[in-house]
Amino acid sequence: MTARLLDGTALANVIRADLKTDVEALLARGVKPGLAVVIVGEDPASQVYVASKGKACIEAGMHSETIRLPAATTEAELLAVVDRLNADPAIHGFLVQLPLPKHLNADRVLLRISPAKDVDGFHPMNVGRLSVGDRQAFRPATPYGVQQMLIRSGIETKGAHAVIIGRSNIVSKPMASLLVQDGPGGNATVTICHSRSRDLPGLARMADLLIVAIGKPEFVTAEMVKPGAVVIDVGINRVADPTSAKGYRIVGDVAFEPVAQVASWITPVPGGVGKMTIAMLLLNAVQAAKQAGGWADGQVA
Ligand code: NAD
Repeated sequence: MTARLLDGTALANVIRADLKTDVEALLARGVKPGLAVVIVGEDPASQVYVASKGKACIEAGMHSETIRLPAATTEAELLAVVDRLNADPAIHGFLVQLPLPKHLNADRVLLRISPAKDVDGFHPMNVGRLSVGDRQAFRPATPYGVQQMLIRSGIETKGAHAVIIGRSNIVSKPMASLLVQDGPGGNATVTICHSRSRDLPGLARMADLLIVAIGKPEFVTAEMVKPGAVVIDVGINRVADPTSAKGYRIVGDVAFEPVAQVASWITPVPGGVGKMTIAMLLLNAVQAAKQAGGWADGQVA
C-alpha cells in the first residue's frame, strides 16, 4: 500500500482564503482583528515562528503586533506587557511564545493572559472549557489543525481508535480532548501513551489513527503501524545532513518512506501539520474578535 498524502500546505491555503472573507466581514463592521505575539530572547526557532505568524496575519488583512523583549526581561516587566495587551482594544488575541527563558515562570505568565484573548488556548480556563466540550473555547492551534485536516480530508474519526504518542499540554492532551468530544472530528476512542507506557509499539499498532508528537526523529517505524492506519506526524526535528546547503534537514517523528508503504494516509514533514498551525492561530484570533464583538462564530457576515 502507498499512503495518500495529507497536504497541509493546500489545506492551510483553503483555510486562509476562507479567513480573508471573515476578516472582510469584520472590517465592514469596523473591526480589524488584531493578533499580537510576545517573544522573549533570541531562540532561533521561535524567531522563525514569530516572523511567520506576523507575515500570515498581515496577508489575512489583520492587524499584527510583535513585541520583542530581551532575554534578561524580568517577570514583572513581562507581566506588565501582558497587562497592557489584555487592556488594548486593538488586540483581540495574543500569545507569549514558548519556551520562555529559564528565569521566567511560564505558568504564572499564562495565568495572567485574559482567557478571552488567549488564542493559544493554554490558559487553564480555556483548557477546562475545551475538556468540557465548550465550542466557544479556543482550541490550541496544532491539535485544532490536525482535527481540521482529518475533517476536510473526509477521514472518519467516529468509532476509530486514536492513539496519541506524547503527553504535552500544547499538542497531545488537547488533541485527546478534541478527538473524544461528540461532533465532527470527534467521537474517537482515545489512548494517550508516553515514555513510561508499557509496550508502546503494541499500543501504536492498535491505532486506526496514530498521532505522534514526541520530538524524536523518525521514532515510529513501519512495524509500529497497523496496515491502513492514518498517520499524523506532528514532530519537527533538525537532523544533520552534510548534503544540504544548510547542513541539516527537517524530519518528523515518523520514518516517512517505510510508514507510507503501510499507512492509508500520512502527513509529510515539512508541509504537513506545521502548515496548519499558523492558519488555525489566525482563525482563533478572528474568533476572539467575533466573540469580543458579541457575534457568534460564523455569524458575522
Ligand atoms: P514536548 O517536546 O513538550 O514533549 C515530548 C513528549 O514526548 C513528552 O510528552 C514525552 O512524554 C513524550 N516522549 C518523549 N520520548 C518518548 C518516547 N521515547 N516514547 C514515548 N513518548 C515519548 O512535546 P510537544 O511540545 O508536543 O512537541 C513534540 C514535537 O512536536 C516536537 O518535535 C515539536 O517540535 C513538534 N511540534 C510541532 C508543532 C507543529 O506545528 N507541527 C507544534 C508543536 C510542537
